[in-house]
Amino acid sequence: MGKRKITEEGLAYDRYLERTGEDKAPITTALIDMDGVLYDSMKNHSKAWCRLSDELGWKYSPEEFFLYEGMTGAAIIRLMMKREMGRTDISDEEAKDLYAKKAQYFMELGEVDQIDGTFEMLTTLRSAGIKRVLVTGSGQKTLLERIHKDYPGTFPDDLRVTAHDVKYGKPNPEPYLMGLKKAGAEPGNTIVIENAPLGVQAGHASGCFTVAVTTGPIPKEEMVKSGADIVYPTMRAFAEQLPWLIGARNYSF
Ligand code: MG
Repeated sequence: MGKRKITEEGLAYDRYLERTGEDKAPITTALIDMDGVLYDSMKNHSKAWCRLSDELGWKYSPEEFFLYEGMTGAAIIRLMMKREMGRTDISDEEAKDLYAKKAQYFMELGEVDQIDGTFEMLTTLRSAGIKRVLVTGSGQKTLLERIHKDYPGTFPDDLRVTAHDVKYGKPNPEPYLMGLKKAGAEPGNTIVIENAPLGVQAGHASGCFTVAVTTGPIPKEEMVKSGADIVYPTMRAFAEQLPWLIGARNYSF
């Protein structure tokens, strides 16, 4: 039994325990978002949505697509169709066709970079024996297929939740609850790693300790408002502090 070092991670974890009534338990599982966490892809997603919007005559601001991050493509299409055209009768097929266009525009923008620090973050999780589950609202084939090459052995096929698996998508807790089920884990043993307010809301609502990393233009305050238990300014900063978070959770009194 040692003396516990007081860190931001330890304090955040204590607040989590107080808020949820969870017992102190080791982290066994990490539920990890894709866009803005593994890949610096949000700028191109926004550009692809803008191009589709121009084509359909929708009014928009490029920033709003950053705020929709986490929603499925079909959900964004339904939101825009309703707002811009007053239409609520979008069939699954129409949504699918429009999303295919957006996905094509995204692909045409070329390969996106990996987020700096992600490799180190995943390595720390792996070496601590923490199970990794991909939980993304995306259905973007190009990125989903790249994951195996860029992060080999990190996300087994049976430990993935994508746009194809969910009915509601983020901010509903559904994708994270599905991730917990696939991993056979409980919220009290699990951290969610997110970069977007709607994703943070979903993580928070699932009952997991939710980490937000501000890898895009959305400020820290939005992440806190959405229910983040702790916020890091960069993925590298999170990767460096991750051992403290694992330590705070795994330390037994
Ligand atoms: Mg994201």
